[in-house]
This record gives sequence, structure tokens and C-alpha cells, in this order.
Amino acid sequence: MPFCPKCRSEYKEGMRICPECDVELVEELPEEEVEFVRWKVVRKLPNAMVGNMLKSLLESEGIRAEIRSLTIPWLDGVRSSWSEESWGELLVPEEQFEQAKEIVDEYMSHVGEGE
Ligand SMILES: [Zn+2]
Repeated sequence: MPFCPKCRSEYKEGMRICPECDVELVEELPEEEVEFVRWKVVRKLPNAMVGNMLKSLLESEGIRAEIRSLTIPWLDGVRSSWSEESWGELLVPEEQFEQAKEIVDEYMSHVGEGE
């Protein structure tokens, strides 16, 4: 049976594309997609620039990182309830948290960001 690799729905034989996600169906879901990732916040982000910097830094170390923005992108710059650490959060898988935190803390101490 074909499956959608994105939303993991099962489809009838003969279906080629998931109408929900617009992606090609696969015969079997890949192992890594089955794995459940527990995300943990490694750092609060003051802005998108710092977020992207830390994300690529972690990825260059082989750590998966995701940015969760707490603001609406097209309202960025509207500082109604702005505080220094409220732009977003940097998330990493729980099993890579310690390693990621070390890298991030080390990096941020050099940059002189934070308090
Ligand atoms: Zn789908």
C-alpha cells in the first residue's frame, strides 16, 4: 500500500500523490520518518538572524535544529510586545540537547550576546 511520507496517510493502490500534501507516495515509510523526535528548547532567540546562525552552526556539527518563531513573520519589526528574548526558540532533538547546548553556549559567549 502506498503511504504519504509527510502526513503518513495510507492510500489505495494506484494513488501516486497525496492530495493533502502534494507529495509523491512511497511504498513504505522510511525508518527515519517513523522515529519520534522529542524536541527540546536549547535557547531562546532574540531575532531571526541569531536563530539562523545558530541553526546552521548546529547543523554543521551534525545536529538537527529547528527554529520556532513566536512572532508572525510579516509583522516582524512591529515591536508592540517586544522583549529581548521573545522572538523565537531554537529546538533540537532531546538526545542531542546536551551537545547542542554546549555548542550554542560556547558560541554565544564569544559573540557576547545575552546578559
Ligand atoms: Zn500527505
